[in-house]
Amino acid sequence: MAEETTQGNTNTNPNRKPNQNKNNQNKPKPANNRNKNRYKKQPTAVDATLKEFVVKNQEAHKQRLNPHYKLDLNSRAKIRVTPLGGLGEIGGNIAVFETQNEAILVDVGMSFPDEDMHGVDILVPDFSYLREIRKKIVAVIITHAHEDHIGAMPYLFKEMQFPIYATPLPLAMIGNKFDEHHLKDHRKYFNPVEKRKVYKIGNDFEVEWMHMTHSILDSSSLAITTDAGTIIHTGDFKIDHTPVDGYTADLHRLAYYGDKGVLCLLSDSTNSHNPIPTPSELSVAPALDRVFSKAEGRIILSTFSSNIHRVYQAIQYGIKYGRKVCVIGRSMERNIEIAMAYDYIRFPKNIFIDADEVARMNDKDVLIVTTGSQGEPNSALFRMSIGEHRHIKIKPTDLIVLSSRAIPGNEGSISGMMNHLQRAGAKMCMDKDIHVSGHASIEEQKLMIRLCNPKFFLPVHGEYNHVMKHKETGMMCGIPERNILIMTDGEQIEIAPKFMRKVKTVKTGKTYIDNQNNHQIEDDIILDRQKLASDGIVMMVVEVSSQHSKMIAKPRVTTFGIVPDRRDKAFAKEMEDVIEHYLLHIKDGLIENTRALENDLRQVVRKHIYRRMKKYPLIVPHILVS
Ligand SMILES: [Zn+2]
Repeated sequence: MAEETTQGNTNTNPNRKPNQNKNNQNKPKPANNRNKNRYKKQPTAVDATLKEFVVKNQEAHKQRLNPHYKLDLNSRAKIRVTPLGGLGEIGGNIAVFETQNEAILVDVGMSFPDEDMHGVDILVPDFSYLREIRKKIVAVIITHAHEDHIGAMPYLFKEMQFPIYATPLPLAMIGNKFDEHHLKDHRKYFNPVEKRKVYKIGNDFEVEWMHMTHSILDSSSLAITTDAGTIIHTGDFKIDHTPVDGYTADLHRLAYYGDKGVLCLLSDSTNSHNPIPTPSELSVAPALDRVFSKAEGRIILSTFSSNIHRVYQAIQYGIKYGRKVCVIGRSMERNIEIAMAYDYIRFPKNIFIDADEVARMNDKDVLIVTTGSQGEPNSALFRMSIGEHRHIKIKPTDLIVLSSRAIPGNEGSISGMMNHLQRAGAKMCMDKDIHVSGHASIEEQKLMIRLCNPKFFLPVHGEYNHVMKHKETGMMCGIPERNILIMTDGEQIEIAPKFMRKVKTVKTGKTYIDNQNNHQIEDDIILDRQKLASDGIVMMVVEVSSQHSKMIAKPRVTTFGIVPDRRDKAFAKEMEDVIEHYLLHIKDGLIENTRALENDLRQVVRKHIYRRMKKYPLIVPHILVS
């Protein structure tokens, strides 16, 4: 401390001899014997007034930096935060913010199934807890229009409805979903909001939407104020200083709240491990230009259909090189349509052509923008790759541009699709600079923490290792470890100006959805399918006589997926013998009780097969009683 202040005083100290500084600077070795005495004789004089201002500035720093002093410490108000999805996983974001009497939901997203969830297309959060507090819920608040934040809305609204507050793009996209699910009527719950305006929601909540940059247009961070203080929920974000539409992240509003005092920050942890700042969306422009300028045949570009600015940039470079644009893929067509209808992007209408016109055009005049960057089997690009698209057949002169990264878990299907495309002769471009992430890296996460300057910190949106890393970054930025909690889905956190603690755990989980009919698939069906897939099935028919309490015909067994066909018969015989042996020695009276008999037969067979093959197949007994 003393060192700092004397250094700061050097030039203004009136008692210091003018040549003293000069001498000091010219000496290569400071520990010179002749100078030693002079320092001793003339200790640095301290100006009392300056010292006083140093203290004042230290106090100013403390007031500025310590959020504790900005909160109403006398308030006894509390707020509870419960994530019901989005932690320990990527996707399925949904969180409940709850006062004594009221609750709001922030986002209602879906996620994608693992490979062993056979026949499941999407996962929807378990709504059990929402059923429990249904009467308290006053609104659904949406941060942005990504599927993992709005995808479960129709499933929630089939069961219970609340007013929905969001900016126009998320509402337009939710509206589309409602239409698809025959819930058109539910558009009456829409409450479009203006950014930078504070909305009173219910009696207990005030919410402001602050503009955020992300890989989808019209994203927001939220400032949620209750009697307990203000919570900032970043939503998904990156800090893009040169966004395509010029609408930068509203850092000023975040700073405003930070200066006023923030109780707690919930911040996006997706890219917590990335030390390199996330580049601007605009940074893909030179790469697009480079790739497009060299293409000799058709260009087929695929990206996330929700990344409208990426599509916009691609189309712009298509136009630059004199190409007409053909948009293929339901979600891509719909998203561009919405973005144009609501004036988020503008193009002359005459640049677009239909898929059936492509064949009549010169290859060099065509840009196809399409879905399928994740190798999804139903996507347009995948169908093109296997030669099953009605209008587009892949040619050796085609250039396929994948302007995206693989979502973890999709690497296999992307690679498979690439094999197909290359077998058809097409050239591939997946250059690194042709895609940028939509999420903040460590440096932007730090900026967010510094802007909001929260007392408490809850890293969200990411798997366990992501939130743990984000916690480290929080601590680096001055948040004490005791003020950071790592949440998991279902854990309820209570926050008050003086404390933050875990209070209880509520039920969470996933509901499986079959997209063919938009219906739920019950959990036991999935379990059966898993057993079938991994361990096979055993079916047996047993005929017993209730009168004589004994079997009347030899049992019959059929198995699938357990032994190879050539061993089928022998294996069935072996099982039949086991069952027969059991039935011959069965206790009196058991045969009359079919249910008990079924259970026993299952056990006998299960034991035997486990002993022989270390497998637990699905076992289906049929008991015929005569
Ligand atoms: Zn997002």
